[in-house]
Amino acid sequence: MPGFELFGELERKEVTDVLDNGVLMRYGFDGMRKGHWKAKELEIELQKYFQVDHAQLLSSGTAAVSMSLAVAGVGAGDEVIMPCFTFVASFEAIMMLGAIPVLVDIDDTLTLDIEAVKKAITPKTKAIMPVHMCGSMANLEALKSICDKHNLALIEDACQAIGGTYHGKPLGSYGDVGSFSFDYVKTITCGEGGAIITNNPKYAQFADHYSDHGHDHIGNDRGAETHPFLGYNFRISELNAAVGLAQIKRLNDFIAIQKNNYTIIREALSVIPEITFRTVPKGGEENYSFLSFYLPDLELTRKVSSEFKSNGVDGCFHYFDNNWHYIRKWDHLKEVKSLYPISKEVMEGLEYLKTKSFEKSDHFVGRNLSCLIKLSWTEKEVQDRAKKMVQIIKSVLH
Ligand SMILES: *Cc1c(COP(=O)(O)O)cnc(C)c1O
Repeated sequence: MPGFELFGELERKEVTDVLDNGVLMRYGFDGMRKGHWKAKELEIELQKYFQVDHAQLLSSGTAAVSMSLAVAGVGAGDEVIMPCFTFVASFEAIMMLGAIPVLVDIDDTLTLDIEAVKKAITPKTKAIMPVHMCGSMANLEALKSICDKHNLALIEDACQAIGGTYHGKPLGSYGDVGSFSFDYVKTITCGEGGAIITNNPKYAQFADHYSDHGHDHIGNDRGAETHPFLGYNFRISELNAAVGLAQIKRLNDFIAIQKNNYTIIREALSVIPEITFRTVPKGGEENYSFLSFYLPDLELTRKVSSEFKSNGVDGCFHYFDNNWHYIRKWDHLKEVKSLYPISKEVMEGLEYLKTKSFEKSDHFVGRNLSCLIKLSWTEKEVQDRAKKMVQIIKSVLH
C-alpha cells in the first residue's frame, strides 16, 4: 500500500520548486511563487484521476472524512452509520462534528453488512459512511438504494482504497462525497494530507471555504475576503501537496505493481483448501494494497499470525487483536474518555456501545489476516515470501 517506498526524483523535483521560491502556503503570494501552485495542480490531477468535478485538498484524511460529513450538513446529534472494523479516524471524524457514530457489523467483504445497516436506521440517521477497508469496497449499490429510500447522504471513507473501482467508477466517486488520506502509509502520500471529491458544486464550495476559516476566496486580497459561514483551518501546505503531485502521476504504476505482487501470493495461497479470500462485491476491483484471507478459526489465525511474525513474514495484520482498527480494543470510545466535556446527546448516543456485541464481525475479523502488499519487493522476494507463507500455514493447519 505505501507510496513512501518509492519516494524519488519526481518527488524531489516538485518539492524543490516550492523551496526555490519559499511560498509554503497554498493561497496568496501570487508575485513570489513564480507560477507554482502545487495544491491547485494536485486538485486538478485528483479531479482527472477520480473523474469528478471537484476535489479539495486538506491537511489530513481525518479532516477529509470529517469535512465530507460537514459539507453534507451532518452535525450535532445526527447519527452516522459506520462499520465497527475501520481505523479510529472514522469515528473521530464524526465526533468532531458533535454527531454520533453508530457502529454496526461487517460481513465477509470486511466492510458494512447491509442487513446491519438497515436495522440501525432511526429518525436521527443522517448519513451512511462505508469504509473501503484494506483496498476493497462495500456493496455501494445496496447502500445507495438504502440512502435513496431514507433520504440519507452516502459518504465514502476511501482512505484505504485509493485507485480501486466499483462498477467502473473510482472508489470515492460513487457516493455524495468521498474522502482520501495521503498520510505516510497510504497508497500515495503527501507526508500528511487528505482530500475530498464530489460532483456537487455546493459541497465543493462549502469545502473550499470551510477548510480555510470560511474565506470566500473571491478577489486577490486575502484580508479583504468575506466569510459567509464559520470555518476552520484544514489547509494542506505546498510542500505536502508537491509530494502528492509527484505521487499521483505514479499511482497507476503503483497499482499495477501491487496487482502483480498480490496475484503471485494469492495464487500460492489458493492451493490450501482451508483458506478462503475476502469477498469483493460484484462489479468491484480492489486496489491490491492488501491480500485479505480467512483461516478456519480464531485460534489457528492467532497461531499463523504469530508464526508469520517469528519467521520474518512482516506486514500481516490480525486486526482482531489490534488496538487501532477494531471495536474490541476501543475502550476509550466505549467509555468516552475525552479531554473535554462531550454533549449529553452524544454521551447518550454512545450508551449502546457498553452492551452491544458484534458477533458477526468477530466471526470474520477473528479469522482474517490482511497482508500488506509492498511496492519495493523484487519478483524473487515475492515468490520466496509466498512460498514461506504457504509452508507456515500448512504446518499450523496440519
Ligand atoms: C488513514 C485513515 C484515515 C485517516 O487519515 P489520516 O490522514 O491519517 O488522518 C481515515 N480512515 C481510514 C479508513 C484510514 O485508513
